[in-house]
Amino acid sequence: MDNNNNRGGGRPPAPPARNPLIAFLVVSLGITILLNLLISALTNPKKEEISYTQFMAMLENDELSQVEIADGQISMTKKSSSAAKPSSTSAPQAGVNMFDFAEKQTKDRTIYYTGYIDDPELLPKLREHGVEFTRPVPYKMNPILEFLLTWILPVLIMVGLLWLLTRSMTKRMGGSGGMMGFGKSNAKVYVQTKTGVTFADVAGQEEAKESLDEIVDFLHHPKKYTDIGAKQPKGALLVGPPGTGKTLLAKAVAGEANVPFFSISGSEFVEMFVGMGASRVRDLFKQASEKAPCIIFIDEIDAIGKSRDNQFSTNDEREQTLNQLLSEMDGFDSTKAVVILAATNRPEVLDKALLRPGRFDRRIIVEKPDLKGREDILKVHAKNVKMSGDVDLHEIALATSGAVGADLANMINEAALRAVRMGRMQVIQGDLMEAVEVVIAGKEKKDRILSEKEKRIVAFHEVGHALAAALQKNTQPVQKITIVPRTKGSLGYTMQMPEEEHYLMSKDEIVAEITVLVAGRAAEELIFDTQTTGASNDIERATQMARNMISMYGMSDEFGMTALESIESRYLDGRSVANCSEETKTRLDNAVMKLISGCFDKAKTLLTENENRLRKISEFLIEKETITGDEFMNIFREDEETQDADKNTDE
Ligand code: ADP
Ligand code: MG
Ligand code: ZN
Repeated sequence: MDNNNNRGGGRPPAPPARNPLIAFLVVSLGITILLNLLISALTNPKKEEISYTQFMAMLENDELSQVEIADGQISMTKKSSSAAKPSSTSAPQAGVNMFDFAEKQTKDRTIYYTGYIDDPELLPKLREHGVEFTRPVPYKMNPILEFLLTWILPVLIMVGLLWLLTRSMTKRMGGSGGMMGFGKSNAKVYVQTKTGVTFADVAGQEEAKESLDEIVDFLHHPKKYTDIGAKQPKGALLVGPPGTGKTLLAKAVAGEANVPFFSISGSEFVEMFVGMGASRVRDLFKQASEKAPCIIFIDEIDAIGKSRDNQFSTNDEREQTLNQLLSEMDGFDSTKAVVILAATNRPEVLDKALLRPGRFDRRIIVEKPDLKGREDILKVHAKNVKMSGDVDLHEIALATSGAVGADLANMINEAALRAVRMGRMQVIQGDLMEAVEVVIAGKEKKDRILSEKEKRIVAFHEVGHALAAALQKNTQPVQKITIVPRTKGSLGYTMQMPEEEHYLMSKDEIVAEITVLVAGRAAEELIFDTQTTGASNDIERATQMARNMISMYGMSDEFGMTALESIESRYLDGRSVANCSEETKTRLDNAVMKLISGCFDKAKTLLTENENRLRKISEFLIEKETITGDEFMNIFREDEETQDADKNTDE
C-alpha cells in the first residue's frame, strides 16, 4: 500500500506529515531567541539595579555624570574616574586618546537604575551636584506605522513562513502532495493483486462479458494490438441499475486478465480540502503506471464526473478532480496496457468531456437480468449453498421479474438462513419462495394482530385483486394470497407470477393490470361500502401505469403518439419529467383520471357479477390466512360450474 513513500533516497519511510512542521517551528523559534539575545548583548549596555539609598549616596559622592528620570524609573551613568567632567563639547583629541576614550566608554557604560520615588529634594540635589539630568520625551509613533508593525507584519511573516513550509513539503513529497501532503498520506488507493473473481462468477451478462473480453485479451497480449497499430480503448464505462454486477464485472476483468486491480470510489475523491481529489487522481495513475498492465476502476464515477455546466451548484473541488482525471487519461501512454473502467448508474449526468473518444468512449450496458439470466445468477450463488433435490430455480427466477443480481444473491442467503432457523441441513424450495417474499415484501410480522374486522377487509381486498386477475384475459396467474402482515408495511398481498417472461406489454395487458390493481378497493366498496388506506400502494402504481401509457407509450386516442413525458434517470428510480405545456398537462391528468375510473368501473362490475366467489374465497382465506394459487383456482372453478349452471337455468 505504501510502496511509494520511500522516494527520498535513504529517508525513513512514511515521514509523518506533522513532524517536520513541529521541528521547523521549534528551530525557527530557537533561532529567533538566540538572535535576540545576541543583539541585546551586543548593543545594550550592562544594567544593574540599585537601591534609592545607594543612588543618593552616589549622588552625594559626586559619582554620577548623567541621570535620566522616566516614569517610575531613574537610570544613571557614573562618571569615569579618570576623566574630568565629560561634556558633549569635549571631543576626542587624537591618536592614543582616541583609544583611551573608547576604553573609558566601555568601562562607564554600566547603567544603574532604581525605582522612582516622589522625592521633593531630588531635583535640588541634582542641581547642587551639577549632574546633567533629563526626562525623555515620550516617543509617539505614527499610528498607521504602529498598526502596520504590530498587526500586519506578524501576519505577513506567518503567511510567508507557511508558504515556505508548504513549498518545501511539496518538494519533499515528490510534487504529489497538496497542502502539507495530506493528499498523500490519506490516499486510499490500493492494489488488490488477486481479485479472485472471474467471468464464471458473473452470470446473465453475456453481452457485457463479450465486450470486456477484448479488454482482457489486450491486457494479456498488448503487443498483438500495438504491432498492427491498433489503439485499444483507454476506458470503458459500465452503465446500469444498482446491483446488476458492475463492480463484480470490473473485478472479473482483472481476475480474467490476471492483472492488478486498482479501485477507488468516486465519492472518496470528493473530500474537504481543495486539491486533494486531484492529487489522489495523480497518485492513482502514477501507481498504476508503475504496475502496468493493470486495471484502474473508478466506482460511482458520477460523484466526480458530473457535468460542469450545471449553473446551480458549483463545486471547485469536484471540477479540479475531474479536470485532473481528464488530463491523466489524455496523458496516458496508450501502449502501456492500463485500462480504466468506471461504473455509474447515472450516465446522463456525466460530463460530455468524459465520454469523448479517447476517454470513456466504450459504454457497456449492464442491464437487469432476464429470466435466463436470473436463473443463471441463482445457480452461481446456489453453488455455495446446500440445496435439496426439490429446488427448482427456474420457478424462483419466474417469480422474481425485475430483481437484480444483488437481490438474487440476497434471496439465496435468506433462504439458507431460514433453513438454519428451521433446523434443516438443506435449503428447500419453500425456503426460497419465502425468501423471495422477504426480499420483495419484508419479513412476516407475526406480532401484529389485526382486529377481526380489519382482517376481513384485508382478505376481501386481496381476493378482489386475485379475482380480477383470474376473470380477465391478459393477466398473470395468481400464485399466492396472504393476509399475514409484512415488515415492509403491507397487511396482505396477492402474488402473481408470469408463466413466461415477456418483454413487450400490450395495451390490453396494461389496462387489465390497472383493473387488477384497483379491484382491491372495488371489493372494499362492494362488500363493506367503505374505503380504506390499504389501497394507497395500488393507487400509486395504477396511476403511474396509466400515466406512462398515455404520456410515453402513445396508447391513447386523445394524444396519439406524442411523447408528453420522458424518463430522467432510467437506471435509478426512472422518474419522468414532463415536456409539454401546462395546458396539455391538465389534459393529461384528466385523461389519466378517466382511464383509471373506467378500470375501476370494470373491476366493480366483474366483482359484482362474481360476488359469490368473492365471499367464498375470502372466507376461506380468513380461515387459512395464506392460500396458494391452486387452492384459489379450485374454489374459483368449483364455483364456475355452479355459476354456469345458474346461467343455463336462467336462460
Ligand atoms: P453494482 O456495482 O452494479 O451496484 P455489484 O457488482 O456490487 O453491483 O453487485 C453486488 C452483488 O450482487 C455482487 O457482489 C454479487 O454477489 C451479486 N451480483 C450482482 N450481479 C451479479 C451477476 N450478474 N452474477 C452474479 N452475482 C451478481
Ligand atoms: Mg457497484
Ligand atoms: Zn391492494
